[in-house]
Amino acid sequence: MLLESIFLLTLGLVFGSFISALTWRVPRGMSFVKGRSICPHCKSQIAWYDNIPLFSYLGLGGKCRNCKTGISLRYPIIELSAACGFLVIGLTVLPDYIKTIYLLILFLLFLSIFIIDLENQIIPDPLVFIGVFVALFYSLFFIPNSLFSIIFSGFFAASLLMLLHLITKGKGMGLGDVKFAVLGGILIDLKLLPIWFLLAFLTGAIAGSILILLGRAKMKSKIAFGPFLIIGLGLAVVFGNKITHFLGLI
Ligand SMILES: [Zn+2]
Repeated sequence: MLLESIFLLTLGLVFGSFISALTWRVPRGMSFVKGRSICPHCKSQIAWYDNIPLFSYLGLGGKCRNCKTGISLRYPIIELSAACGFLVIGLTVLPDYIKTIYLLILFLLFLSIFIIDLENQIIPDPLVFIGVFVALFYSLFFIPNSLFSIIFSGFFAASLLMLLHLITKGKGMGLGDVKFAVLGGILIDLKLLPIWFLLAFLTGAIAGSILILLGRAKMKSKIAFGPFLIIGLGLAVVFGNKITHFLGLI
């Protein structure tokens, strides 16, 4: 259990570090395979021992070794989030290795989409397409009986958001959110779809209100909706049945 946890956390930190670079480079049209990491301030190359996830940040006190400029908190936060996600998924699903790998891939995709949409208000199509492909592939081999209902659920979810997109003339809902709904719909039970959207709008409204109260956003500011679709999806998958049960009691 202890060894397993350490392994999951380490793996999560490594993938988190990869995601933190990918989510920075992809929206800027940079290659994430080529090129070593450099300090964005003094452009000096970062040595391998200063590029160890989380630990280098802590060791350096959050500052570049060369110019002492502060390193963005996004790196340790993303690395730590990935490590926690890996730990929770691993400890919940193991020893089912195939399902664990499947969920870890989806988790990394969702984490990337969450960060990119939050920072750039865009959901890259390739990430959504990879997710749809992985989810359908998994369903085809491991839950083939539900393949039809899964595809239906994906298109139904996207149609609902597409309707919102058309009604609000694209202001309330971007096309990226509509495409993402195909992936979310595939992953969630059709009967939990209303709960998913309800939670997404609710968490979005709460976060928006807090930002406005803090003076960080105005009534007309555009806030990315993708992160809330992801939070809502996670909550609906984990607590959806409990919530429907609770609502049914009232
Ligand atoms: Zn520097």
